[in-house]
Amino acid sequence: MTVPALRVSGLSVWIGSGADSIQVVDGVSFDIDPGEATGLVGESGCGKTMTAMAILGLLPSTGVRVSCDHIEINGRDVSRLNTAQRRKVLGRDIAMIFQQPATALDPVFTMGQQISAVYRRHADGNQRRAHEAMLASLESVGFERPEEIAQAYPHELSGGMRQLSMIAMAMVCKPAVIIADEPTTALDSSTRALILHQLQQLQALHGTAMLFISHDLGVVRQSCRNVMVMYCGRLIEKTDCQNLFSHARHPYSAGLLSCIPQLGATRPGRISSIPGQVPALADLPSGCHFAARCNRSEPRCSESTPVLDAQDKKGVACFRPL
Ligand code: SF4
Repeated sequence: MTVPALRVSGLSVWIGSGADSIQVVDGVSFDIDPGEATGLVGESGCGKTMTAMAILGLLPSTGVRVSCDHIEINGRDVSRLNTAQRRKVLGRDIAMIFQQPATALDPVFTMGQQISAVYRRHADGNQRRAHEAMLASLESVGFERPEEIAQAYPHELSGGMRQLSMIAMAMVCKPAVIIADEPTTALDSSTRALILHQLQQLQALHGTAMLFISHDLGVVRQSCRNVMVMYCGRLIEKTDCQNLFSHARHPYSAGLLSCIPQLGATRPGRISSIPGQVPALADLPSGCHFAARCNRSEPRCSESTPVLDAQDKKGVACFRPL
């Protein structure tokens, strides 16, 4: 049996304390196998980034509470590690590609210094070997002259080059798992295609598992085999991408798909939207959080909570799926 590269069980996150705390992630569980890319999609504010930050242990220790059964990387539970132990794991076994490389990178160090530092901290303290690994990593993401990129400061690079450099930094220790949070946001379409292509190549080369966070279902379809849909902090559907696009089972997933503008649509200019509003996280209704917006809702939807099978790769949290 394959040991998942990443296994998350029962992850929940609350912001605030006591009776005023707000639950922003609610019992999230999933597995990603080595070499597999899984998309995490949903509207802004549904808990995607909070899930990633909680997995990586990057949420502040005050004002935020995280609870989970396990977070396993290659079968090793990292959820009970202290901060110093977590930091060692972060970068070596699991790495993150941030949405905004301009703010994630340090402006006072060259790209080469920053990537080498990650390698020296997590893999090998030897300066020469770190330098060689840094150049190899820059080359692996497609830079023909990695020495030039290594000597550049982040502000001297274009948005696409910064993002490729971030990927080189994330991959320099060849981690088992990469979390990519909206890695192509704000990039033009050709740069976006290049970034997605390089990510896929590296993933295939190193057998890296990837959690790909995006609000863009089209990008997820291009990049991932499996997909999970999130709504109000809960996973509400898990399936493979092909299946989601041909037969979404949760009414919310179907609503998200209907919002994708179609080339050659019979009524160009019309953009669909899911009726109603996302409920405030501080005031979530009981039962299915989507009930007020769902045209298939029935009384039991507001009385009890539909559950998704925890570790199954396919499932839907709905009493009346499509
Ligand atoms: S559980 Fe009920 S309200 Fe929720 S999505 Fe399914 S049918 Fe709609």
